[in-house]
Amino acid sequence: MKINIQDIDVHPIEMDDEISLEFISPLIREYYPNQATVHVHAEKIKKDVRVRIELLTRAHYTCDRCLDEFDVRFTARIEQQYHQGAGELLDEEIIRIAADAIEIDINPVISEMMLLNHPLKMLCKEECKGICPNCGAHLNHEECRCGERPIDPRWDELRKLLK
Ligand SMILES: [Zn+2]
Ligand SMILES: [Zn+2]
Repeated sequence: MKINIQDIDVHPIEMDDEISLEFISPLIREYYPNQATVHVHAEKIKKDVRVRIELLTRAHYTCDRCLDEFDVRFTARIEQQYHQGAGELLDEEIIRIAADAIEIDINPVISEMMLLNHPLKMLCKEECKGICPNCGAHLNHEECRCGERPIDPRWDELRKLLK
């Protein structure tokens, strides 16, 4: 996604766009298959362009506990400063752009904000009961079978013989 900064001296930028997130890091790309709505606000103060990005999409995760797949609303926001032309950068977070740049490609920043906001833990719900390690029962949907006494069919045959 690119923002045109030709008129930014006169008009701050306020724009919305629908983008696909194919360009984000391969480490997390599979979790964000849906279109994202991106809102961008940008303004120029002297030689600095300040960009605020807000992103909304539906993430597709796999629950760490029960392995169910689920969709969830994902939002992220970030502020990025760009410096146009030469001159000292006061902060290593600031990205330099050419003095005659007419647009800024914000995809690298979007990629970074996705990584920063990607959850370390994915849970389908806070109270997810997971899977019983013993019997494999999916405890959100069914009762654990561990409590039941195992019935071995061979005993039935033996009982018949004893009669
Ligand atoms: Zn779960
Ligand atoms: Zn069990």
